[in-house]
Amino acid sequence: MAEGILVVLDQENGRVRRVAYEMLSRAQEIAAGTVTALTFGPGAETLAETLGRYGADQVVALTGDAFTRYSSDGWAEAVRQVVEVIDPVALFFPATAWGKDLSPRVAGLLEAGLATDCTEIHPSEGGRLEAVRPVYAGKAFQRVRIDTPRQLFSLRPNIQPVIEHGRPGQLRPVTVSVSPDQFQAVVTAVENNAGGTVELTEADIIVSGGRGIKAPENFKILEGLAEVLGAALGSSRPVADEGWVPHSYHIGQTGKVVSPTVYFAVGISGAIQHLAGISGSKYIVAINSDPDAPIFKAANYGIVGDLFQVVPHLTEEIRRLKE
Ligand code: FAD
Repeated sequence: MAEGILVVLDQENGRVRRVAYEMLSRAQEIAAGTVTALTFGPGAETLAETLGRYGADQVVALTGDAFTRYSSDGWAEAVRQVVEVIDPVALFFPATAWGKDLSPRVAGLLEAGLATDCTEIHPSEGGRLEAVRPVYAGKAFQRVRIDTPRQLFSLRPNIQPVIEHGRPGQLRPVTVSVSPDQFQAVVTAVENNAGGTVELTEADIIVSGGRGIKAPENFKILEGLAEVLGAALGSSRPVADEGWVPHSYHIGQTGKVVSPTVYFAVGISGAIQHLAGISGSKYIVAINSDPDAPIFKAANYGIVGDLFQVVPHLTEEIRRLKE
C-alpha cells in the first residue's frame, strides 16, 4: 500500500527556499512512512545532508540536461515517473510561483486531487490527510480531504514551523526517462526585478505602498523604512499597474499572497482584493491619513497620519533603536 510523503522542491546551485524546510518538517511530523525530497538541477545532489536535517529520510536528485532549465510539462512528467517508483500517498509542493505552475500539471498526469495554498495540514482518518485553505479572499477557511489514491497539496510559505530532526538524509538514485527535445515549453531566462532584496513570499517583514504615496519617486521613503527593518518591498495593484514599481511587488488576489510576521500597509486603503493577499500576516500595521480607511479593520496596529511625516519619523526612530 502506498504510504509516505514526496516533497517536491526547487533549488538553485544547492540552495533551497525556506519553504522547503517548512514542508519537510511538517511531512516528517505527520507521515506514516518515508519522507522523500525530490529536487532538480545542477547542485541538487549536494542537498541530501541538509534536507535530511529538516526531515527528508531520502533525497531524489534529478540532474542532467533535462533539468538545467525548468519545463512545466517535462518536469511534471519526471515527477510522475518518480511517483511510480517511490509510491507516496501524498505529494507536497510549495505554493510559490514555481509550485503553483508545476503542481496542477502533476495532478493532471496522476489524475489526483490537489488542494492549493494550504495553511494547515493534518493526519486524518484511514491514513489520509486533511488540509485547511483560505477561500473567498481569505474571509473563510475550508477543510479539504482528497479522495483520489494520491493526495496533492501546495503549502503556503512562512506558515509551518521549521524543525531540525537531526538525522542525515540519503541520496536515493531514481532514473527517469524524459528528453528536453520533447519538452513543449522551457524557461530560457529569469529576470530578478527585486534586485537582490528579500523574496516577498518568504519575507518576515514587508513594507508595502499604496496609491497614498502619490508618485513613483516617493517610494524611496518606503525603501528607507524597508532598509532599516531588513524588509521586502511590496505594493497594492494600482501602484504596480501605474508602473511606479515592478509588477513583482503587486500583492493581493491577483498578485502575490504573502504571510510575513509584520506587514506595513502604507497609504493602502484596504480593499478586499488587497486583503486577500495579506490575511496570512501575523501583524498588520496600517499607516493611513483617513481614520475610516477599511485597512484599520484588518490592522493590529494603526497610525492615523500623513505617511510623508509618519514614515520618516518611524524610520529614524528604528534606526536610532538599532544603534
Ligand atoms: P486607494 O484605494 O486609492 O487608497 C489609497 C489610500 O491612501 C487611501 O486609503 C488614502 O486615505 C491613503 N492616503 C492618501 N494620502 C495619504 C497620505 N499622505 N498619508 C497616508 N495615507 C494616505 N488591488 C490590490 O492591491 N491587489 C490585488 O490583487 C487586486 N486585485 C484586484 C482584482 C480585481 C478583479 C479588482 C476589480 C480589483 C483588484 N484590486 C487589487 C484593486 C482594489 O480593488 C483596489 O482598487 C486597490 O487595492 C486600491 O489600491 P490602494 O489602496 O493603493 O489605493
